[in-house]
Amino acid sequence: MSYTIEGKTGIWEIVVGLEVHAQIVSNSKLFSGASTRFGGEPNSQVSLVDAAFPGMLPVINKECVAQAVRTGLGLNARINLQSRFDRKNYFYADLPQGYQISQFEYPIVGEGTVEIELQNGETRQIGITRLHMEQDAGKLLHDQDPSRSFVDLNRSGIALMEIVSEPDIRAPEEAGAYLRKLRQILRYLGTCDGNMEEGSMRADVNVSVRKAGEPFRTRCEIKNVNSIRFVMQAIEAEAVRQIEIWENGGEVDQETRLFDAARGETRTMRSKEDAHDYRYFPDPDLLPLVIEQSWVDELKKALPELPDAKRARFQQEYGITSYDAGVLVAEQITADFFETVAKGRDGKLAVTWVTGDLFAALNRTSRTLEDSPVSAASLGKMLDLITDGTINGKIAKDVFETMVETGDEPEDIVEKKGLKQVTDTGVIDTAIDDIMTKHADKVAEYRSGKDKLFGFFVGQVMKETKGKANPALVNEALKAKLDQ
Ligand code: ADP
Ligand code: MG
Repeated sequence: MSYTIEGKTGIWEIVVGLEVHAQIVSNSKLFSGASTRFGGEPNSQVSLVDAAFPGMLPVINKECVAQAVRTGLGLNARINLQSRFDRKNYFYADLPQGYQISQFEYPIVGEGTVEIELQNGETRQIGITRLHMEQDAGKLLHDQDPSRSFVDLNRSGIALMEIVSEPDIRAPEEAGAYLRKLRQILRYLGTCDGNMEEGSMRADVNVSVRKAGEPFRTRCEIKNVNSIRFVMQAIEAEAVRQIEIWENGGEVDQETRLFDAARGETRTMRSKEDAHDYRYFPDPDLLPLVIEQSWVDELKKALPELPDAKRARFQQEYGITSYDAGVLVAEQITADFFETVAKGRDGKLAVTWVTGDLFAALNRTSRTLEDSPVSAASLGKMLDLITDGTINGKIAKDVFETMVETGDEPEDIVEKKGLKQVTDTGVIDTAIDDIMTKHADKVAEYRSGKDKLFGFFVGQVMKETKGKANPALVNEALKAKLDQ
């Protein structure tokens, strides 16, 4: 199978592997008790360990380890009961230790898989190579002073997971689907908030190209791309650049590059370093990390239902389509909302109101489910009013609009506005008689064969009853009277 960007890559196939850095949700840092809160005053959340004062000792944060294990389980991956922390040595002004504590040879999580779905509905398995824990570095501030730079160490020592994929991705679209799926899983697990704008998830994008059937060629790594859209654009731009080099008889150099989103191109940052340049060695301040299988089992038992499982269950339990179920499970809050509405009710009716009317209303009023004016419980009660015949489908639309405007309960709106469906056949018959008298000419036309006029009569009767008549009863009575 060969994937190409239409018209741009010809016979070339794109090969991509992603290294995703995901900030672990935890109140304190990987090896210190300092807070991880986002947006604090610079250097207000820095312990002596994070500032690398001489003689300070790191102490592993058990919650961070639990989060890494949960993530591994969510990625269907092998959990390594023994792993090890290594020092990755390099100099940078935002790294006071002069090394990053990371995991190299023995990561806590091994091989796993993530299933992605493409636009055409096809699914593909993307292999996970590994997941390891490491510390984040600080941040340099260049915009505070014209002649000096400052360093903010609040981020220094915050726990990250690096999640490395196999080079299984074959197109920008697949990279996008993979990142969205990964983010969704992390959010469900509560192990990373997936917020790319705040930098809690960022990706290093490895790209190479080859002709179908060939072994892999040299790759370039595009560092620190911070949005899914940019990842997709970077892959395309980089693939086109490499293809041009190969096509012109040149050779792609393995290097680290940056994506310039404004220009839509990648640029050299440095030639690629190798592992030995970092002189990795086991951190002598930390014991090997040994965890118990029984603890892993406990964590596994306590995992929430994940998106794939929830989607399958929604389809089965509520009789809705795979597509609708996919839309509903995209965010956990949407799934929970739907489930509250649908429980014990007609699933198809619930999905229409949630993904149709409610989403449209939220869109229109620039709101999200978090601040929805209509609660799941209220929407559920409105569906009950439809199902038990208190209101008809058309009136339900009006009731719903009032709910969006006022936040009132549906039964109160129906009561106050007198919107109860008219099922009194006497009232309906009277309305029909009035209409037939008023439009005697149309009745004659209808009776002489102009069947299409039936809809006109239905409309008139509904108007006469202010939309409240039970449509089925109107149809039945009209037919009887017109066909007399
Ligand atoms: P390093 O340790 O130097 O970063 P890895 O072997 O760990 O190298 O690979 C890093 C990432 O690069 C992985 O996501 C992997 O899937 C990807 N990768 C490896 N070879 C290729 C290739 N030829 N083309 C594209 N991506 C690749
Ligand atoms: Mg790497």
